[in-house]
This record gives sequence, C-alpha cells and structure tokens, in this order.
Amino acid sequence: MSTDTVWDVALRQLDLAAESLKLSPGVHEVLRHPRRTLEVSVPTRMDDGSIRVFKGYRVHHNTSRGPSKGGIRYHPSVTLEEIKALAMWMTWKCALVNIPFGGAKGGVVVDPGALSAAELERMSRRYASEILPLIGPEKDIPAPDLGTNEQVMAWIMDTFSTREGFSVPGVVTGKPLSIGGSAGRSQATARGVMYITLATLKHLGRSVEEARVVVQGYGNVGANTVELLADQGCMIVAASDVHGGVYNPGGLSPHRMNRFKQEAGTIFGYEGGERVSNAELLELDCDVLIPAALEGQLTEENADRVAASVIVEAANGPTMPEADEIFTERGLTVVPDILANAGGVTVSYFEWVQDLQAYYWSEDEVNDRLRSIMEASYVSVLGLAEDAKVSMRTAATMLGVDRVAAAHRTRGLYP
Ligand code: NAD
Repeated sequence: MSTDTVWDVALRQLDLAAESLKLSPGVHEVLRHPRRTLEVSVPTRMDDGSIRVFKGYRVHHNTSRGPSKGGIRYHPSVTLEEIKALAMWMTWKCALVNIPFGGAKGGVVVDPGALSAAELERMSRRYASEILPLIGPEKDIPAPDLGTNEQVMAWIMDTFSTREGFSVPGVVTGKPLSIGGSAGRSQATARGVMYITLATLKHLGRSVEEARVVVQGYGNVGANTVELLADQGCMIVAASDVHGGVYNPGGLSPHRMNRFKQEAGTIFGYEGGERVSNAELLELDCDVLIPAALEGQLTEENADRVAASVIVEAANGPTMPEADEIFTERGLTVVPDILANAGGVTVSYFEWVQDLQAYYWSEDEVNDRLRSIMEASYVSVLGLAEDAKVSMRTAATMLGVDRVAAAHRTRGLYP
C-alpha cells in the first residue's frame, strides 16, 4: 500500500505536468516549493476557564499571478504537508480558470464540532490575528473550506477590520451577504460541480435523467451538489457524511434528507434507504461518483471495485495516483478537482471584485459568468487531454502550471 503523503501526491502531479510541458528545470524547482509557510499557536480560552493551544498554519504556495487565495480548514487531521498540497492545488486551479490569483491555504488542527460557538469564535479570532501579517485584500484572501463556513469568515473579516480601524470586506470571501458577500457564493462550488458533471455527461453522450449519482460528504459542497443535480433530473442513489451513508437504488429525496439533517445533525440514519459505510458507498452501483469530503478516498485498494464510470472530484485530492492509473486502465473518466471544484474560487474572485468596487451583482449575473468560465475551462482541459494524449488531471495541471510558469519567466527572478 502507498505511503505517499498528500504533499507527495501533489508533487508527483506537478512533475508529470512539468515533464509533458518540457518545463525548464529552474522554474520547475521553484514551483516545487511553497513561497512561504507560517505555523502559529492559537491559545484559546475555553468555556470552563481553562486554556487550550491549537496549532494553525497559513501557506502561500505562489503569488506570481496576483494575491494568493485559498480556504481555511478546521479538522483534527490537518498537517502542514496537507496545507502545502492544498495551497499548491489552489495555484494551479486559479491559473486554470484564469483568475488573477496565486494559491494559498490555511488550517487549524481542531475538531470544530467539539467546541461551543463561543469557543469557536475566540479560536477563530485568535487564529485570524496570528495570520494577520500574511492576509489582506492585496496579499492573501482566505475563504471557507472543510469545517469552516460563512460565520467563521465573518469573524475573520471583523477581526482584521477592527485591527485596521475600518471595514475591509475584501480580506475574505465566502462571507455572509450582509457584510459584502456575493450572491451565489454559498452554492458556487457545487454549482460548478454541476456544470462540469452536465458537460461530462453530454460529452460522453449520456443522458442526465438516466444518470445515477453517489455523493460522499454532505457539507457545503456535497449537500448543494446533491440538490442541484437532483434539480437537473439526475437520480441521487446514495449520500454520506462522516458518520456513514444511506443508499436507495430507486433514488433518495434531497428535500427529505435535508430536513432529516437539520433535525439530527447528520444524514446517517435517514430512513429513505439502507445504511452503508463510507467505504461501501464508494463501490456502489452508479454512473457518477462524486467524492466531496476528504483527500485519499480512492486508492489502489478500492479502485478496482469502483463501479461508477465517471468520477467528478468535488473534494480536493480524493484520488491517489495509483488509483488514477487503475481508472485510466479501466477507461473511467476522472474529472480532476482543480477543474471540477473551481466554481468556489471563481465566485470568490467575483466576490473580491465586487468588494473592491463596492458594487454588487445579481445572482443571475454571478451564475452566468460562473457557467461560462466553467464550461470554457472544461473545453480547454478536454482539448489538451485529447491533443497531448494525457489524463484530464495532467491536462488541467499543465494548463495551470503553464500560466504560472509564464508569469515567472516574464517577471524574472529577483534579484
Ligand atoms: P464541509 O465541512 O462543509 O463538509 C464536509 C462533509 O464531509 C461533511 O458532511 C462531513 O461530515 C463529511 N466528512 C468528513 N469526513 C469524512 C469522512 N472521513 N468520510 C466521509 N465524509 C466525511 O466541507 P466542504 O466545504 O463541503 O468541503 C468538502 C470538500 O470540498 C473538501 O475537500 C474541500 O477542500 C473541497 N472544496 C470546498 C470548497 C468550498 O467552497 N467549500 C471549494 C473547493 C473545494
């Protein structure tokens, strides 16, 4: 079994793209390293008066095309290596969809569900304060990721603004609408996943109405993807969260599942189907599998048993390289994360532009612009994959790396 870390995986993907691009060794070496990494301690007063110190990170992988951009993750398994990999993927993703950002990521080693709302607020504000030297609308703009949400973004925006002495909405994206968020941002990642899934089905000549879909992860991305794809006519046959999943070959009702989740805090135990584990869910009979939780879910252990013929990576890094090879041999279509989930950062870019101009767009305008960027990016990735005879992942990485490398060549190396 592979012992590669997620950072090894990210480097391997870069190396493959660099080889196909015949990238100069100097630029390749620069891109293999994050530009800067910050590790912080986040002392937090707990409700019982005790103090706990959490470990946090913020990594800027690359800033050659503009300020860096990337989410903040709260999860007990966060490591510096993971944040470095996620930051590198943000660099390629922003360049692939051609928005003027570099790549960053942040994280805190914490189980947010185990903290009270007041503890979470104090921890988030202290973390924001510790990474303050790195963030700002012209420098680095955080956003939500696994375990964080628009409330956490609001606390970060308020902490930054209070320290500056005036409101700075452009310091984070994925904020509530009331403080400068964008219409359409909360569903943007899922909407992008939906546009890409529809484009893939169309390209393969498959009917949307006959597509049976399985989604792993039922958070911001997973739950919205389920809802949007069901609205398009797809049949959702299984979904899961960290506790486990529910499967019904005759189709699940997203509306009822959402109601169950609101009451129970999980979809595990929803009685519209039979219970399945997360491992079983990945191997269920379906057409489209959408991992929307964590990295490293599809491995050499289970890749042979994946029954879907299309995998759309809503999560970052769900497929290990060994699984990728097996999927290629088996002729599965794998739409890579940096393309499939780029809707989130694209609308984050729209939010930042709106904040800087203090001029806000309608949801239809946001969704139309998102759609055209996602569809154009899909066409470029598919075109390059066919021309260069490489996987869609390598093609997407090549497009991103090539744009970043061009910026490096044009700017030159300081001093
Ligand atoms: P979230 O915290 O809102 O939801 C995560 C979901 O995954 C929850 O339902 C949780 O129960 C489930 N989960 C956690 N661990 C699991 C496990 N071991 N097995 C199965 N399910 C598990 O997070 P999110 O924002 O929806 O992010 C999900 C994925 O999408 C992450 O990989 C993230 O990096 C990626 N992503 C998010 C955005 C965004 O805008 N939020 C953008 C691009 C990519």
